[in-house]
Amino acid sequence: MSSLPVLVLNSGSSSIKFSVYEAGDGARTRLFEGAVDGIGTEFGEFWIKDAGGKKLVDQTPALPNRAVAFKLVADALHSGQFPAPAAIGHRMVSGGPTVLENQRITPPLIDEMESYTAFAPLHTPIAVYIMRQALEIFPGVPNFVILDTYFHRTMSEVAKHMPIPDEYAAMGVRRYGYHGISYESIIYQLQPSVPECLIVAHLGNGASISAIRNGRCLDTSMGLTPTGGIISGTRTGDIDPGVLLFILRQIAATAASAAEAADQLETVVSKRSGLLGVSGLSNDMRELREAIRTGNAKARLAVDKFCWTIARWIGSFVAELNGLDMLVFTGGIGENDIASRAEICAGLGALGIVLDPARNNVRGAAVISAENSPVTVRVIPPLEDLMIVNHVVRLLGE
Ligand code: AMP
Repeated sequence: MSSLPVLVLNSGSSSIKFSVYEAGDGARTRLFEGAVDGIGTEFGEFWIKDAGGKKLVDQTPALPNRAVAFKLVADALHSGQFPAPAAIGHRMVSGGPTVLENQRITPPLIDEMESYTAFAPLHTPIAVYIMRQALEIFPGVPNFVILDTYFHRTMSEVAKHMPIPDEYAAMGVRRYGYHGISYESIIYQLQPSVPECLIVAHLGNGASISAIRNGRCLDTSMGLTPTGGIISGTRTGDIDPGVLLFILRQIAATAASAAEAADQLETVVSKRSGLLGVSGLSNDMRELREAIRTGNAKARLAVDKFCWTIARWIGSFVAELNGLDMLVFTGGIGENDIASRAEICAGLGALGIVLDPARNNVRGAAVISAENSPVTVRVIPPLEDLMIVNHVVRLLGE
């Protein structure tokens, strides 16, 4: 295959990130990357950096909506300053129960994925908007959807199934798992020596953890939506269903309609809970660590709850894997928050997880376990865009 520029588009609820790679015969070179951040605000950010980190664009535009935000990206990509893409890869959190394979995007496929917005309500609306725009402004260029759920397709029926009446299971209500592109990128980086029993903790603003045997997903913490699993920045994680009913009854007493009550409940569990809900202060680990330093007890409780939950999941995954060779931390907190890694691992000596405090005192890629730790503990930053490019190149060749 000759060298091709591949554009990666990765949208979040308030941002659009993008990068262009030169891809050919096994070699992948990132040419540039950029982002529009702060969609829905008056003071957004728009930047593009070249491969050496030099800022080519650095603006603070008003970003009232996603249309304005994406137009900035599209105009920059069409300015002639950057190579026109030969293929485009779109990160997609969920394609619902029917779109589970990475594949070429067509207008009916976008409609199908959009019909499952309830599976990833914060992510799907902007992702499908960008897909439609990309098909229009890059006519003839093949676009591919690369799914976060794809990695988790190897989970067993027991792990996927939910203990609910069959009529709901038939609607696609089951455990899917997310952050899959991040997990794939960790395994990619561990090759050729992927350990048999591996746990990867992706701890960012959204957080999840996966049990992986021989490179294949055995189990993961997130379920039907990215709100399930471990507590994260603004999301509850798994919670007693009775709590949802209790809150729903409170909300329903004043809501104008059932739909409004459901929306309000969604806001509570997805945007107002987690570290933010418990601390009453912030969903940002840096701010919480700062507050802990000044003696804020609620911030302390929120972070303790976060670390405690993750330690419990690690314990259950060791049981499920029936052993553990390696634990990997990734994501913004996993890569940078030295204290969270120490606090999560502090009580896991019986599982063979022993950190070396000096080695753990780093940000970014490192081995952080003690010399005599039976389990190797590593920090590995994810390479999600590179994984998307790898999928696109594979699909182009099919
Ligand atoms: P992500 O969603 O992967 O970008 O991760 C965002 C989370 O990483 C936020 O909670 C940040 O506070 C946290 N984070 C980023 N840098 C640091 C740092 N240097 N120390 C502690 N937490 C950090």
